[in-house]
Amino acid sequence: MSVGLDAAISLGNRFARELPELAIPWQAEEFPDARLLVLNEPLAAELGLDPDILRSPDGVRILTGNLVPEGATPVAQGYAGHQFGGYSPRLGDGRALLLGEVTDTEGRLRDIHLKGSGPTPFARAGDGLAALGPMLREYIVSEAMHALGIPTTRALAVIATGQTVYRETALPGALLTRVASSHLRVGSFQYAAAMRDPELLRRLVDHAIRRHHPELPGADNPALALFEAVVAAQASLIARWMLVGFVHGVMNTDNMTISGETIDYGPCAFIDAFDPGAVYSSIDVNGRYAYGNQPLIAEWNLARFAEALLPLFDDDPERAVEMAQDALGAFREQYGAALAAGFRAKLGLPEAVDGAVAAEVINDLSALMQQSRVDCTSFFRRLSDAARGRPEQARGVMLDLAAFDAWLARWTALEPDADAMDAVNPVYIPRNHLVEEALTAATADDLGPLERLMSALARPFEERAGLERFAEPAPDSFGPYRTFCGT
Ligand code: AMP
Ligand code: MG
Repeated sequence: MSVGLDAAISLGNRFARELPELAIPWQAEEFPDARLLVLNEPLAAELGLDPDILRSPDGVRILTGNLVPEGATPVAQGYAGHQFGGYSPRLGDGRALLLGEVTDTEGRLRDIHLKGSGPTPFARAGDGLAALGPMLREYIVSEAMHALGIPTTRALAVIATGQTVYRETALPGALLTRVASSHLRVGSFQYAAAMRDPELLRRLVDHAIRRHHPELPGADNPALALFEAVVAAQASLIARWMLVGFVHGVMNTDNMTISGETIDYGPCAFIDAFDPGAVYSSIDVNGRYAYGNQPLIAEWNLARFAEALLPLFDDDPERAVEMAQDALGAFREQYGAALAAGFRAKLGLPEAVDGAVAAEVINDLSALMQQSRVDCTSFFRRLSDAARGRPEQARGVMLDLAAFDAWLARWTALEPDADAMDAVNPVYIPRNHLVEEALTAATADDLGPLERLMSALARPFEERAGLERFAEPAPDSFGPYRTFCGT
């Protein structure tokens, strides 16, 4: 091929240069039999990368870390983390690498990162590898979240490594090439804080601010300003999760970003009927990361973030704690406001509707939906039909019709905007049974179901003929859903 690869992809090494204490230069394992399975062409275009080059043999070697463009310094990033509440001082990228940063077509820095690229010094007892199912699952769900307008890391490609990975059974191995606005996590700050080097912590704060909040360097107290910004970003993110019924499943502090993007799709799932106690992950035996706990857990994680930053908030430890508490106090308010605004939008309530009236309509509907165990996603689309004068389908799934009719009368009197509702209530979400179906077929070498699912999920708000089965809840035969961390 005549095209120079340096022209095809130019990778910076800003993280590796600015924070060497948190980065171990490392090489991906060689994957001579690597085969590109899926390439996200729209994302490649956003990054200014030529899909034809990425599909070429050398392009695939770049996507697997086997060909390192000049100037790049792939590193395994160090981080700590609270996992299910218990602290692990040294997690880090055990099977992942930050290849480097690209500048996208809008001038933003984006990380190119590999997951499943072989063991690193952080691997402990792990094999450093990933199985095909979980990597495709991250591809599907993260791209669906993006299409829903929810901040998330993205998936550029999934590559079959040609290796066999041993979990409970032998599985085909794969690697995900991931894109993120950064891979800074709460755990990155915990790791830096544990080194008891305020200068390093300050450098990490400055790096995060330059990357995510270029407006902040002038702040009187940059660390506090960063903390406040992360509190706000996470409050907004968690509200978005709750509004679509997303259950992350492993909200450890190493899986919470500073950018406010959703990261590390492991045993995640979507609820059907509204259930605060919904847990899908087989390892979450106590329901710590249940659907309804997510806001509390986010707040808990942010408290751990504040603890890491305390020495930078103020020299006086007591004063520093007060500042942290004040700043963290904003979370509940911001989360509550974001959730309320989101529900108002889902119900198409005009701005003129008073907040207290809206809250009552929302709460009463939630109670009715819970009582009848309705499928949340499809029900909101049925409600927009009701707003257009066609209430039959919504009525059809309600048990207490008299109560629902009374609610409908109150709500329609507020003049809900059905088109506005359709713009925020998705028809298509990555329903658990559809994801499993696509993964099962893909593992047997048939990518058809995955491609069809992805095309439905790419435009989630636009109802299209022929895609009816992607809009329906799981059949009863699907049974109670369990996700496994056997990644
Ligand atoms: P996760 O649950 O994917 O967020 O991973 C938690 C930690 O375990 C991170 O430090 C990962 O790098 C590490 N890890 C997970 N799976 C493996 C594996 N197969 N080999 C090495 N490290 C792993
Ligand atoms: Mg993780």
